[in-house]
Amino acid sequence: LTTTTPYGLPAIWLRINCQCPLCRDAGTGERLVPIGDLPQDISVSACTRSGDRYEIVFGPDGHQAVFDARWLGQYAAGGDQPASADDGRTEDSKRLWSGADIAAAFPQGSWPLFLADTEHRQACLTAVLRDGFVVLRDVPAEPGTVLSVARHFGLVRETEPGRVVDLEVREGTANHAFTGHPMRPRTSQAYRDPLPTVQFVHCLEQSDRGGESIVIDGFHAAAALRSGQPEAFAMLSGTEVTFAIVTVMSELRATRPVIGAGPGGRIREVRVDSSCMQPLRMSAADVISFYEAYRAFSQEILRPSAAATFRLRPGDCLVLDNSRVLLGRTGAERPRHMQLAWADLDGLASTLAMLRRSRRNGHPRS
Ligand SMILES: [Zn+2]
Repeated sequence: LTTTTPYGLPAIWLRINCQCPLCRDAGTGERLVPIGDLPQDISVSACTRSGDRYEIVFGPDGHQAVFDARWLGQYAAGGDQPASADDGRTEDSKRLWSGADIAAAFPQGSWPLFLADTEHRQACLTAVLRDGFVVLRDVPAEPGTVLSVARHFGLVRETEPGRVVDLEVREGTANHAFTGHPMRPRTSQAYRDPLPTVQFVHCLEQSDRGGESIVIDGFHAAAALRSGQPEAFAMLSGTEVTFAIVTVMSELRATRPVIGAGPGGRIREVRVDSSCMQPLRMSAADVISFYEAYRAFSQEILRPSAAATFRLRPGDCLVLDNSRVLLGRTGAERPRHMQLAWADLDGLASTLAMLRRSRRNGHPRS
């Protein structure tokens, strides 16, 4: 004999999510009982509804639970919301753009207003999650300020050159990043696992000529590849490749697909940096297919309509989603001095959640 459970939720689901003080810490909400401590033959021996509460008795141990009916209802078995549908990281919660789209609704904000006004701060954080970047104006063009900006967005990440990285056009250097050469659009730090997912580029000095920033929506390009050449998309999302960098200070490597896709093939990350992609280990036929797919993706990325180009001026700080947006620049002249820092999208989402919480609790100002 099987007792009917609310919304068809299985006995094990109900017991794991029991809200009683033995099962769940009332203060922190932490679960206190590991699965190994629960009876394997768990069942529901009685279930009664009174008002908007469900009272449940579990077998074989007689443990009792009380659930709010509406709370249970949102987890109704067979509901239309898969667990991963809206964690804010896949294409489903983004606004994908071409160069013209984003130029017409350019995501920008004011740093002084960001500091003073919670609503503006929320709008800037949201822009990074939805559009993939925001340009903050009037950030003091003082060295080190980029760290302060990064801390207001999330949790600062350490990278192999440090927390703040200077990117300058210099005379007589062999390091590609420090010459004035154009830089092809790419994602940064593809050789890190986990990837630093938010990049900050703060302009301290910039010549009036050249050195324009180029941004491309990698999710838009990947979605175009999926609709135009699905077999190429399947190859790039189903093949792990190694990205690596070896310097005097470190050996960093990450083995991940070029297009990271979640359940149902929803795009959630792109890693595009040919300069650190390592030799493939696969059959000759797969190698040929892989590079055909990679070339097709590259053509989507380099479509002239894909890119938006703009010039950062001293005091501007570009904040971008490094799991999605490719960044490059046109040929640059001296003086050009940028400072970079990194953080992560989960910290950014947490900052946003805390702002919403404080506004709900009646503290409209930061
Ligand atoms: Zn319990």
